[in-house]
Amino acid sequence: KKITIAIDGFSSTGKSTIAKQLAKKLGYIYVDTGAMYRAVTLYAMQQNYISDTHFNVDDLITDLNNISLSFSFNESLGFAEMYLNNTNIEKTIRTIEVSRLVSKVAAISEVRRKLVSEQQEMGKNKGIVMDGRDIGTVVFPDAELKLFMTASADKRATRRYKELLDRGDKVNFEEILHNVQERDRIDSTREDSPLLEAEDAIEFDNSDMGLKEQFDRIMSLVNT
Ligand code: C5P
Repeated sequence: KKITIAIDGFSSTGKSTIAKQLAKKLGYIYVDTGAMYRAVTLYAMQQNYISDTHFNVDDLITDLNNISLSFSFNESLGFAEMYLNNTNIEKTIRTIEVSRLVSKVAAISEVRRKLVSEQQEMGKNKGIVMDGRDIGTVVFPDAELKLFMTASADKRATRRYKELLDRGDKVNFEEILHNVQERDRIDSTREDSPLLEAEDAIEFDNSDMGLKEQFDRIMSLVNT
């Protein structure tokens, strides 16, 4: 019987790596909700609603209806890439410029309302793995399996650093560490749907846990 799997946790805890593997193994759909918040942020940057020095919240809110988000499965990558108004933005949304602003955009209630309702629509049918910050608490409070991922900030920043290096990005470790901590802070203290562990979530601290071990443990939870 197909279920809904909600994966929440702090930035760069390996949520999406695990979620992708689970979806592949189970034949489920995987939805990266962080990509959606990043896509809205990229749009706001393109329209000059937000930068490091300003944020015209009302302009973004007025324009939200013109933002169309979609995922399209890429066979060779093995996961769905993010599209903003029919343009593939999968790579652009991972840059440090977007990472620096995304938590501010994600704190806006109107943005959350739009994305949460799109996410609920995508998960109407069971057989979905969704990762984010509020999936087990707000988007799918009735999910059959909820995971909450944590790891030390240093481990997380190191992972993100390697990922970006591998992609060929110019990166600075201190900047990434700062960004990871800053996003956690904003995500945990915002008024609307702060990052919280659901009461019935199972917590994974993967600071020292390998991917294979995590995956096997989670698969045994799925099968019970
Ligand atoms: O998962 P990722 O690190 O790509 O998410 C980027 C940002 O989007 C988070 O730091 C958070 O501010 C926001 N986010 C959110 N709710 C979600 C997913 C992401 O607020 N469900």
